[in-house]
Amino acid sequence: MVKTQAVESRVLLKRLRDTLAEAGEGQERLDRITELVSVSLAAEVCSIYLRRPDDTLELCATTGLNPTAVHQTRMRVREGLVGRIAETAEPVATDDAPHTRGFQYRPETGEEIYASFMGVPIQRLGEVLGVLVIQNQDPREYTEDEVHGLEVVAMVIAEMAELGAFTGSGPQDMPPLHQQPFFVRGVIGQEGAAEGVVLTHDPQIVITNPVADDPSAERARLTDALERLRAEVDGMLDGGELADAGEHRDVLNAWRMFAHDRGWVRRMEASIDAGLAAEVAVEREQSATRARMARISDPYLRERLHDLDDLSNRLLRLLTGGELISHDDIPKGAILIARNIGPGELLDYGRRLSGVVLEEGSVGSHAAIVARALAIPLVLQASRITREAVNGDPILVDGDEGIVHLRPEENVTAAFRAKMEMLAAAQEAYVGLRDLPAETLDGTRVSLQMNAGLIAELPSLGPSGAEGVGLYRTELAFLLRRTVPRRSELVALYGRVMDSAGDKPVTFRTLDIGSDKALPYMKRPEEPNPALGWRAIRIGLDRKGIMVWQLQALLRAAAGRPMRIMFPFVAQFDEFRAARDILWDVCAKERARGNTVPTTIEVGAMLETPSLAFAPDQFFALADFISIGGNDLKQFFFAADRENELVRRRYDTLNVSFLTFIEQIVARCDALGTPVSFCGEDAGRPVDALAFTAMGLRSLSMRPASIGPVKRLLRAVDLGAARIAIDEARRSGEQSVRPALMKWLQETGAPL
Ligand code: PEP
Ligand code: MG
Repeated sequence: MVKTQAVESRVLLKRLRDTLAEAGEGQERLDRITELVSVSLAAEVCSIYLRRPDDTLELCATTGLNPTAVHQTRMRVREGLVGRIAETAEPVATDDAPHTRGFQYRPETGEEIYASFMGVPIQRLGEVLGVLVIQNQDPREYTEDEVHGLEVVAMVIAEMAELGAFTGSGPQDMPPLHQQPFFVRGVIGQEGAAEGVVLTHDPQIVITNPVADDPSAERARLTDALERLRAEVDGMLDGGELADAGEHRDVLNAWRMFAHDRGWVRRMEASIDAGLAAEVAVEREQSATRARMARISDPYLRERLHDLDDLSNRLLRLLTGGELISHDDIPKGAILIARNIGPGELLDYGRRLSGVVLEEGSVGSHAAIVARALAIPLVLQASRITREAVNGDPILVDGDEGIVHLRPEENVTAAFRAKMEMLAAAQEAYVGLRDLPAETLDGTRVSLQMNAGLIAELPSLGPSGAEGVGLYRTELAFLLRRTVPRRSELVALYGRVMDSAGDKPVTFRTLDIGSDKALPYMKRPEEPNPALGWRAIRIGLDRKGIMVWQLQALLRAAAGRPMRIMFPFVAQFDEFRAARDILWDVCAKERARGNTVPTTIEVGAMLETPSLAFAPDQFFALADFISIGGNDLKQFFFAADRENELVRRRYDTLNVSFLTFIEQIVARCDALGTPVSFCGEDAGRPVDALAFTAMGLRSLSMRPASIGPVKRLLRAVDLGAARIAIDEARRSGEQSVRPALMKWLQETGAPL
């Protein structure tokens, strides 16, 4: 920006700021701003469109257009040039508006006489709050500097909006901020319900003066904060205790690179020269980063943009003197709100949280795994939640439905509490069942075990009534770390798992990495389809060192106790045989070294690909047990990605084909005398668990919280009669037996 323009821009921004200080209603301020901008930028028209809660853009003030159109003209995001700007968060400047893509003529505004149009998003931290537009009659080619100038003005308007400068109590006014109830439906991350208060993970920064009174002083503040930021990052990178530094090395290296990026710093300095306070200059860059993030699908680049976003948050904290949340200050009933969160950070909050709501995140993400392990209700992809929620707001999280009520009305809270009471009563009933067997009315016993992956889950073993740990996912400990654990650490960890389980058996699954479980410190090849790629036992057999090292740790941890080990994702007999040979070899070497080896070792395979169901009889004879990994098996059976929201719920587990397939696997195992269990998530759904039992399964492994509900249903049904109902449904030509089974259960009065 040339010097005179920078000076003019600063004069304008100060005038705008003064309107903030003046007494008056929101509407008066908006009118005054359009007047000031139109005069200052020599525009015949200046208009402000603000985003309404119903997601439309409303003309809220104008100088130059027909005043009667104010609060009448509305458009949807995407509609017209204004809608296009709101959708893309990108400016539009043209000297021929009627022939520009997206143009829509609004007769009530009288804008047909204006050929030139320049509009920019009014945005704060990536959230578009409205659109600021200027128009001229003559074809005018707006320069890049003019676009930047208008963007700077829009930043100040955004900060003013955030301070509530445009709200009012009249029906046409913008409603007051952060006071209305807000409801959002997201994606279920972890079941459970919680009532509590908002705790925001990202800093909530309130900027009371968005305008720089003295640009050189603001520059100095920025420079000082940047220096402190660089020193902080260098300190974390160079400090020996990287594992405790909160971030792993890749992220820190990315931070260091960004912190020294001249372009980033120069753009922030230019914003300051144009009149913005240092914090707003940082936020302006952050908005641009977030807009890019929304457009980019490449996961690596998105990650890097996330890193830049996190770094900007740190810089803002340094500028405003804000503190990182101290974990001692977590209020009771805290429900954490974040755009996204890493597994380590979530573990740090741990059980002090009553719930978590993320604006992004996916079901298979590591944060979701941690939330599940800690049994904290989690809702993902809760759109706009970080913008709406303010620390201390009352909030209800319903993880069963994937919904969130922020600042709920009384009747909503009452209904929610009634649901919580029902859940609590059900929990009470499950406690009563804890020491009773999972036995159907006609005497079939089913062994119910729990799935785990973190030591933090082991305390649930006793209270849940599980007979053992049917699946211990060893990779979780690896996923949550920033560096490769040492073997001695693994020995200690596995030993503690066995100690906590006491006499109950634990089935350790060897590392199931690859696909969606990428270790931050392990280089992986680019794969076109990772779920079908180099993962689990395939990595173990190709990189024997990793497998040997883990098996050594497991054997040493057993310290002479009996042990159960299973290999994940076995697709053919040879893989199992090879892995088993490695295990016996490791065992022999341990013995030769004089180390104590387990008294007995049972070696099993996970059946997660349809191919293994048709393996030679010799495979079933060699395997000491088989565990059906229904999550993967189902994804390959139906060719439907378990991580893809578009298809993952498309095929019912009780689909006749899948159920019949399970039945055949069980029959084959029974015929060959191989114990078989099921450890996919579906085992924890009572009706599905009943159907699996009817197909012959006698061992199911599930989340601890599911054991009570599954046991309660199994104990209330006659399995023979359930089997008849299922068989009838299978003969009826229906695709899934679920509707018929549900009907039968309802008729028999089973507890659902
Ligand atoms: C499965 O695939 O069903 C399973 C239990 O393994 P994971 O969910 O860890 O892939
Ligand atoms: Mg699996």
